[in-house]
Amino acid sequence: KAKELGKRNYVVFNIEMKKAVMEKAEIQNNLRKAIEFNEFVLHYQPQVEPHTGRVLGLEALIRWEKDNKLVPPNKFIGIAEETGLIVPIGDWVITTACAFLKKLHDLGYQELTMSVNISALQLQEDQFVDKVLKVLRDNNLDSGKLELEITETVLIEFLDAKISHVLDSLIENNIKISLDDFGLGYSSLNYIKQLPISTLKVDKSFIDDIQSAPESKNITGLIVTMAHQLGLKVVAEGVEKPEQREYLIKYDCDAIQGYLASKPLPEEEIIKVLNKNLL
Ligand code: C2E
Ligand code: MG
Ligand code: MG
Ligand code: MG
Repeated sequence: KAKELGKRNYVVFNIEMKKAVMEKAEIQNNLRKAIEFNEFVLHYQPQVEPHTGRVLGLEALIRWEKDNKLVPPNKFIGIAEETGLIVPIGDWVITTACAFLKKLHDLGYQELTMSVNISALQLQEDQFVDKVLKVLRDNNLDSGKLELEITETVLIEFLDAKISHVLDSLIENNIKISLDDFGLGYSSLNYIKQLPISTLKVDKSFIDDIQSAPESKNITGLIVTMAHQLGLKVVAEGVEKPEQREYLIKYDCDAIQGYLASKPLPEEEIIKVLNKNLL
């Protein structure tokens, strides 16, 4: 009986595996076509000043327009990374986000910054820095207005001499580096201190804790305080509740990003909220 069961489990496992592999291959094929047929769009989420709600900058977040539906990045970025397709996709993101930033600067929002998410594979590319500089030049943008977001886990996992060199040349060119999802990677602030980053993005899980667990309130506050001591700016991710905002104002957090201020919005809609106070 056990043997029979085992056998059956094996079969189920096999079918599941096969399904997963086929799904992956299909997504991979579709991603190739998506690049060719321009099926990606960027939505932009405001990063706002906590006490005023004034928009300081935007984060570009990719979506895939597939069969009239918007596919979220978590459904395809992983596969794009595994297959190397993240490189052309990432190039498109940087180019598109910078062109939009240029448009916003021309509309009079000259202080606005743009944050773009970057995968490890992009940083490992020889031409990466040159590509970014060219896009900035083509759009006549001040490089200080572009911020590249790299997740803490990626940076810890992939940081080697080459990536370290890439980060240094980005900094030399005044491009900002932001450490995304901070707090998930268990790296110490002592380690962070040695990286050439200018901004720390505190992960949503810490922001969620502000409400639920009173004692871990202090963790977010401590992170903000210590980051400031290291000369870093702090952005709080996933702020949804007014109480979280109050807490972050108390600790002098530099910017908040989350549904409380705004969801990520397409170009036309983001333009309408830029001169508003979102909080
Ligand atoms: P991320 O960079 O940490 O972006 C923040 C994510 O949190 C976004 O999800 C955003 O929509 C979501 N978010 C913002 N505020 C709130 C809130 O108040 N509540 C909740 N529940 N969620 C909130 P999204 O757009 O689905 O992106 C997910 C992840 O996909 C991003 O996390 C980033 O790691 C990755 N990603 C997005 N665009 C790109 C891209 O162009 N290139 C690369 N390599 N990765 C990207
Ligand atoms: Mg990000
Ligand atoms: Mg994040
Ligand atoms: Mg994230």
